[in-house]
Amino acid sequence: MSSAEDLLRSRGLRVTRPRLAVLDVLADGGHLEVEEITRRVRARLDSVSTQAVYDVLGALSRAGLSRRIEPAGSPARYEARVGDNHHHVVCRGCGEIADIDCAVGETPCLDPDTAHGFEIDEAEVTFWGLCPSCRARRAADA
Ligand SMILES: [Zn+2]
Ligand SMILES: [Zn+2]
Ligand SMILES: [Zn+2]
Repeated sequence: MSSAEDLLRSRGLRVTRPRLAVLDVLADGGHLEVEEITRRVRARLDSVSTQAVYDVLGALSRAGLSRRIEPAGSPARYEARVGDNHHHVVCRGCGEIADIDCAVGETPCLDPDTAHGFEIDEAEVTFWGLCPSCRARRAADA
């Protein structure tokens, strides 16, 4: 098991307490908004600004240690599950997000008929629908 310190060093990032705290928060899992990440980081460190958390998330994302997702109509979220090109299903009712494994596993997992000369490195696939609790609520309202 590599520690968070080793992880940062292996990507050429300096080890700092905010970076370790953000990695620790992301390791808990889920797709977290910056506000939530900041709240949890503050529970671990005495004080950290929202801007500092943004900076850390930017550095971690560029280094491939976190993944940023931004479903239409909702704020950016970050997760620690990286490198497997998984996709997301987003609830139209409440914004709940769940992971969906990519059938192909590598990016881009869709090949367009014509790429107009572009070298394509990503196909952004987002599934939209209603989560179980929103479906239940809708059924109860009907
Ligand atoms: Zn829902
Ligand atoms: Zn995910
Ligand atoms: Zn895929």
